[in-house]
Amino acid sequence: MSIAFLGDIHGNIDALRAVLGALSELGVRRIYCTGDVVGYGASPGECVDAVRGAGIPCVKGNHDDYVSRGGVTDWQIRPEARKAILWTQRQLSAEQVRWLHGLPHKIEAGGFSVVHASHAYLPHWPYVLNERAAIHNFLFQRCAFAFSGHSHVPLYVAHRHGHRPKLDLLRNVLLPSRQKVLIGVGAVGQPRDSDPRACMVLYDPEVKSIRVHRVVYDVAAAQARIRDAGLPSELADRLAVGQ
Ligand code: ZN
Repeated sequence: MSIAFLGDIHGNIDALRAVLGALSELGVRRIYCTGDVVGYGASPGECVDAVRGAGIPCVKGNHDDYVSRGGVTDWQIRPEARKAILWTQRQLSAEQVRWLHGLPHKIEAGGFSVVHASHAYLPHWPYVLNERAAIHNFLFQRCAFAFSGHSHVPLYVAHRHGHRPKLDLLRNVLLPSRQKVLIGVGAVGQPRDSDPRACMVLYDPEVKSIRVHRVVYDVAAAQARIRDAGLPSELADRLAVGQ
């Protein structure tokens, strides 16, 4: 039975419901979340409740951290993201904030690990999008394979001891032996690979296969919620183009 990995939901309940519906139809019951349940989208509380209610193990993303730590501290983010975080802080109940705050930075289970950005924590929330960041990740990645979010792009990063890491867009693959692999699971609620459909990854532990799975959802509904909430309109616009 496949295991699903999904993340970067970013308060997009329309995308999350579509993805959970698709998983239920596929009969996939084991799901892990790579973090960033909130931020950008107009339904942060509903997304927290949906992930929590479904008992989905989840790591903490940078937006989950900014929202739940409160105040404006060392956020190195764009103005529209900052606005969305301040808005999100006002939408959540104390209980929802507590849940976000209590999320772990890493989950290790069944031979794999789950992180939001990288297994290396310094600098905070690095993007594993180049060789240097990949080498740094693999120094700290103990499991042979791992799943992460943060880039909002489905990615495949492999490293064989003594060789340079290989970075590529993720396609359906069989996991290699004697290599460490980091799989970027793409984004449910704000894809950035020019495909607006919600993205997740399915792992079959029996054949060690990885499959990218895209789900069509009601983008217009998610955009309308963002506009109605008075959030920056570029956060709605980008959903239509997957950027
Ligand atoms: Zn994100």
